[in-house]
Order: sequence, then C-alpha cells, then structure tokens
Amino acid sequence: MNDWVSSVVDAGYVVAVIVFILGLRAMSSPETARRGIVQAGIAMLVAVAITFLSLTTLNTGITNFALIALGVVVGGGLGWYWARVVQMTSMPQMVAVFNGMGGGAAGAIAAVELLTSLGNPTTAGLSIAGAVIGSISIAGSVIAFLKLQGWMRSKPLVFPAQQPINIGVLVVGLTFGVLAVVQVHTLWLLPFFVLLLAFGVLMALPIGGADMPVVISLFNALTGVAVALDGFALVNGPLGDAGYAMVIAGTLVGAAGSLLTLLMARAMNRSVGNVLFGAFGATEETGVTIQGQLKSIEADDVAVMMSYANEVIIAPGYGMAVAQAQQKVKELADLLEGKGVTVKFAIHPVAGRMPGHMNVLLAEAGISYDKLFDRDEIDDEFPNADVVLVIGANDVVNPAARRAGSPLQGMPILDVDRAKNVIVVKRGQGKGFAGIENELFYRDNCRMLYGDAQAEVGKLVQALKKR
Ligand code: NDP
Repeated sequence: MNDWVSSVVDAGYVVAVIVFILGLRAMSSPETARRGIVQAGIAMLVAVAITFLSLTTLNTGITNFALIALGVVVGGGLGWYWARVVQMTSMPQMVAVFNGMGGGAAGAIAAVELLTSLGNPTTAGLSIAGAVIGSISIAGSVIAFLKLQGWMRSKPLVFPAQQPINIGVLVVGLTFGVLAVVQVHTLWLLPFFVLLLAFGVLMALPIGGADMPVVISLFNALTGVAVALDGFALVNGPLGDAGYAMVIAGTLVGAAGSLLTLLMARAMNRSVGNVLFGAFGATEETGVTIQGQLKSIEADDVAVMMSYANEVIIAPGYGMAVAQAQQKVKELADLLEGKGVTVKFAIHPVAGRMPGHMNVLLAEAGISYDKLFDRDEIDDEFPNADVVLVIGANDVVNPAARRAGSPLQGMPILDVDRAKNVIVVKRGQGKGFAGIENELFYRDNCRMLYGDAQAEVGKLVQALKKR
C-alpha cells in the first residue's frame, strides 16, 4: 500500500512542478498571463492534495488532519474572497499581505524544524537561514501593507544612525541564531526571532510608499528563498518529497521575484540598494522655479483637435486606474479609429502602481495588444503625433527626469512633450507619486483637461459622437 501511495505522491509532485513551470512561463506575456495564473493555481492545488494524501496514508507521525483541513478551508476561503473583491488599485497591498503570509509560513516551518531538529547541524543551519529570511519577509510585508493601505504614513521614516542601528539589530539577532545551533539551546530562539522580526520592520520603515512595489517584489523573492531552504531542511524528514517540491517552487519564486525587482528598479533608473537604503522621497526638491503657466481646455475643444488628427497617442497612468476609465478609453479609441485616426497606447513600465498595471486594465477593456507599445518602441513616434492624451499619468511623463538634481533624475520617461499637442487629463494640481511638480504641464504645447478621468474621457466620447 505504502509503495503504491509513494509512487502516486512522487508522480503528483513531478506533475505539479511541471505545470507550475509552464504557468510561470505563460505569465511572461500579457496574452497568456491569465492561463499561466490558472495553471499555477492548479499546480498548487495538486501539490496541496498530494501532500494531504501522503500525510493521511504514509507514516509521517502527523495526525491532526482536521486542524490542517480547517486551515486550508479558512485560509483558502479568505484568500479567494479578498482576491475577488479587491480593487485593482489596492492590488499591491493585497500582494504584500499574501506574500507576507508566505514568509510567515516559511518562518513557522523553520521554527518547528528548529525545535525538533536543533541537534542536527545541517537541518538546523538550513532552518536558521529559512527563519531569518521568512521573518524579515513577513515583518517587512506588514509595514509595506500598512503604508500602502494608508494606515501608516507612507513617507520614509528616517532617524539618526538608522542604518547602524538596523545592522546592529540584524547582527545581534543572527548571533542568537548561531548560539542556538552551536549550543543546541532552544531558549536562544526566542530573542533570535524577535530581533529578526524587528529587523524586518526597521528595514521597511525608511522606504517610501512609491518604492513599496519594488520592495514587495524583493520580499516575494526572499519568501521563495526561505521556502526553498525549508524544503532542503525537510528533505530528510518524513515529508521528504514535499521538501523537494518546496525547493523547486521556492527557487522559481526566488528567481522570478529577483528578476522583477531588478526590472522595476531599472525602469526607475535606480539601484535596488538605493530603493532599500536611499529613503527616496524623504526630502523635497527646493530652489526650482518652473517657467510658463497652466492652460486649461474644455472637452469639446479636445474632441475637435483629435478628430482632425492623423495620429493620437494615449499615455495612461495611475489616475486612469483610480478613475476606472479604461472602458471609456476603449470607446474613445474606437470612435477615433472610426474617423480614420491612428490610435496608439504608450505604456511606461512603472505607470500605475504595479508592473503591468496599465496592460491589465487596457486588456480588461478589450483593447488589443498590438496597439500597446513599450516606451522603447514608441518614443521616436511622439514628434509625429498630432495629439498625445495623457490620462492620469504624471511622474512617467515628467521632463524633470532629464534634469540633474531632480528626485526623478535619470528615470526614463515617455517623451510626450515632444508631440505637437499634449492634453493632460487630471483632477487638479495633485502631484505624482514622487511628490514633485511636473514641468510638462507648463509647456507651451500642453493643455490641462481638468476633471476625473472617467468623466472627462466620457465627455470626449459624447463630443466625438455628436460630430
Ligand atoms: P503618478 O502617481 O505619478 O500620477 C498620477 C496622477 O493621476 C496624479 O498626478 C493625479 O493628479 C492623477 N489622478 C488621480 N486620480 C485621478 C482621477 N480620478 N482622474 C484623473 N486623474 C487622477 O502616476 P504615474 O502612473 O505617472 O507614475 C507611477 C508612479 O508610481 C511613478 O512614480 C513610479 O515610479 C511609481 N511606482 C510604480 C510602480 C509600478 O510597478 N507601476 C512600482 C513602484 C513605483 P490629480 O490629483 O490632480 O488628479
């Protein structure tokens, strides 16, 4: 019986891992991303079911199945419900929480392993490493959630000697971990965990809300590494096969999270070190006077301008997501195309609040992918565009990025200011996430269409229909 179950369990894990890898691969393109998510979900379901099967039939020494089932039902139910009701703009904080749970679970598994196998140096060493990374990940993710949710000041919290204090807490915490393993003394595990959790909090405090998505991605990578380390620690125990699955899944998450972290940092022209330790946004730029003045325009006039255009480029940003204006934007693009105008979308890699934010929203509205262009693909096109319609974007079109000393210095932006006419849809004088003035709005070729993005694009649609 046990041999038969063992074979099924082995085969199940292999299937889960293969489907998981295929799912991850599909996630790399917006066209196949949905399929990838479903595949990865199925792989996870298979892995959980197989683990449950091995727990109930093989002699693992684990008996409290009802509690495990309750955990799966309550956790799965809450996750399912929250993911269904969450707004797209609140997605980063939800990811922070879910990711933090992963780090917490990895830390908890490591804690159990430490309490039961402290005498085995290999298992204990791996578990200590898993515990360090998992604890930092859950504590940091909680701070990320609080800042993004607005339940805590999102600006960087800085205080004197911050970095030396943080490093001190980390070093003392690690020392307790080493002592626990060397002296085989579980008492040291308590200060070890407390200090590592404190380090996770301290590490996240000086990071501003704008940088949080990058940090969440980094914590996600760390969670993956912690899970892989836990997997190594479990390999020799009764749940050895589950250990292998955790090693593979954790490594994939660690690699994907690290790549995403690097990509996001590169898109903002910052190093990961600068994101983590630069306290970006703590100080405001002073001594800069912007020439020119703000000039407003009405929707009817913009509609006239666009209906005579050969080419219109739409540059969406966070404000489009807040206003949920994507359906109206799709209607607008269809109407313009019906009048023979070429419509393209310029997508900045960090527009919105998470990678792919704009692609997801526009795809949801049914705008086809061949109309979406990355910054590199469309940048030379701006001088040819008769109208660039900036909808709720600010930092990603701010020419200040080209100026030395600006907080945005060096961030590659969409060069919309090179177009013949620029129309910016936004509600008022609100700044972008970086908190600085936008010089674009004061340029001679720029007009402001003030109002909520959904309402204003709706007015454009009505005006175009009348023409
Ligand atoms: P910004 O946050 O720079 O600007 C958004 C603008 O939208 C605001 O100026 C606001 O002005 C306007 N707005 C808000 N609500 C509405 C509404 N209902 N209708 C119309 N306009 C509205 O957005 P961007 O997309 O340009 O830039 C993204 C920022 O986030 C960058 O700084 C980027 O570095 C950062 N970031 C993004 C990440 C990502 O992965 N996407 C990750 C990490 C950071 P007003 O209040 O006047 O309406």
